[in-house]
Amino acid sequence: MRVPLVDLAAQGAEIADDIAPALRESLLKGAFIGGPAVASFEKAYATYAGVQHCIGVANGTDALELALRAAGVDRGDEVILPANTFIATAEAVSRIGALPVLVDVDPDYLLIDPAQVRAALTEQTRAIVPVHLFGQTAPMDDITQLATEAGVAVVEDAAQAQGATRDGRPAGTWGVAAGTSFYPGKNLGAAGDAGAVLTDDGDVADRVRVTAAHGSPQKYVHDVVGVNSRLDAIQALVLTAKLKRLDDWNNARREAAARYDKLLGTLPTVRIPSRHPDNVDVWHLYVVQVPDRDRVLADLNAAGIGAAIHYPYPVHRTRAYAALGHRIGDFPVAEAAAQRILSLPLYPHIAPEQQTFVVDVLGRSLAQ
Ligand SMILES: *Cc1c(COP(=O)(O)O)cnc(C)c1O
Repeated sequence: MRVPLVDLAAQGAEIADDIAPALRESLLKGAFIGGPAVASFEKAYATYAGVQHCIGVANGTDALELALRAAGVDRGDEVILPANTFIATAEAVSRIGALPVLVDVDPDYLLIDPAQVRAALTEQTRAIVPVHLFGQTAPMDDITQLATEAGVAVVEDAAQAQGATRDGRPAGTWGVAAGTSFYPGKNLGAAGDAGAVLTDDGDVADRVRVTAAHGSPQKYVHDVVGVNSRLDAIQALVLTAKLKRLDDWNNARREAAARYDKLLGTLPTVRIPSRHPDNVDVWHLYVVQVPDRDRVLADLNAAGIGAAIHYPYPVHRTRAYAALGHRIGDFPVAEAAAQRILSLPLYPHIAPEQQTFVVDVLGRSLAQ
């Protein structure tokens, strides 16, 4: 039996027939950029995500950069973000010429730690970027309160949290804006790169639209130096079809997560993921902690199981961010977790037998 980390083909098979007529029409009309398919997806996703405006862009990293710019972040500003995230969160800040200020995460959920954020605030801080990692919403009450007191913006990284909530409120609706990613492996994934900025603020939405379209509010009028970051019509068709299934797929992920919890209950050295009582998680990743992780990972991979590590290097441990000047020990929680975390295969179409197999192999490896 083989168990991949994710199974995108199974998702594709569910929508292929649905989207065929619209794809054909798009090709026959030559309608590829903007147009009704993009506008209609943006409207549908805004409704789903609980915001007034959704602006489709080329990818999630662009979405974060554009959201930060629209929130007023500029060259030389400081932006606080967790050390335990995908590097794109930091890249979005760096591309503006702003400084990523890393903080440690909490040991239970591995999410941005509000106490560390408080300690990192300075006169130069312009924004905080909480990351809703693994499909869990970050502690937004505390982060919002800190940001309000300090007079800084909150821009959420909601790339892994499509459909997640905290206290019944969707991830991505606390800050002035959020960036999300529709990279194929995300809970809502396109057939290629795509992303979106989410906001309730009409001015922020206008700034994102103009900046993403070559700084151009109308053709050949360029008000600012912008970028080219667009959601393609074909991607919008794929996303529209998948969005209709997203709640079902997230429910299937939740069931699979509960099944792992139960199966792993027989393995006392495995730490299963914590759940925050206020959160409804969408299980972008199912991340356990195990002793002797590298050997266990190798055993799983050798057995045909696509387990992985998210992420093996906290941002400050990458060569790209060596210039931040951090040392080992600066973010002890993120560093310790990086030695023990292990993402088990989890996707909407995973079969119970596949999960049993994963846990059997894991148990045999740990018994060695
Ligand atoms: C995927 C991801 C991004 C970046 O999205 P891309 O579409 O790959 O540019 C940013 N932050 C997090 C946490 C992600 O998982």
